[in-house]
Amino acid sequence: MIKKVDHIGIAVASLEKALPFYTEVLKLSLLGIEVVESEGVKVAFLQAGETKLELLEPTNEESPIAKFIEKRGEGIHHVALGVDSIQERIDEIKEKGIRMIQDQPKTGAGGALVAFMHPKSTGGVLYELCEKKGMEEQHG
Ligand code: ZN
Repeated sequence: MIKKVDHIGIAVASLEKALPFYTEVLKLSLLGIEVVESEGVKVAFLQAGETKLELLEPTNEESPIAKFIEKRGEGIHHVALGVDSIQERIDEIKEKGIRMIQDQPKTGAGGALVAFMHPKSTGGVLYELCEKKGMEEQHG
């Protein structure tokens, strides 16, 4: 059901400050930077071998990432699992009694379809299901 860990999401206060560590120290290639207005985030994707890192900077105080950093500081925010047929996966997961934050996928960075599981149902980890489509394969 899960194809791979598509990416790991990391909350940062400032992309500008965070990026040099990834690009200059770890020498990861920057795939792109994109604002996802609906989520109140600016994201940078970095290729890390077969998976990716997604740095998330809040663009306003109401952003879930702003709230996360306020409560817990910068750091690992979510683990994204690559799937096909995301709606079917959501329905299967719900049938097993796991709470989803989204019952239907929404459009995230790179045009991917995404839905999050509630961390109260998953032992404290915020898991994202993520389905990449055709043209957006450069992110997945
Ligand atoms: Zn993500």
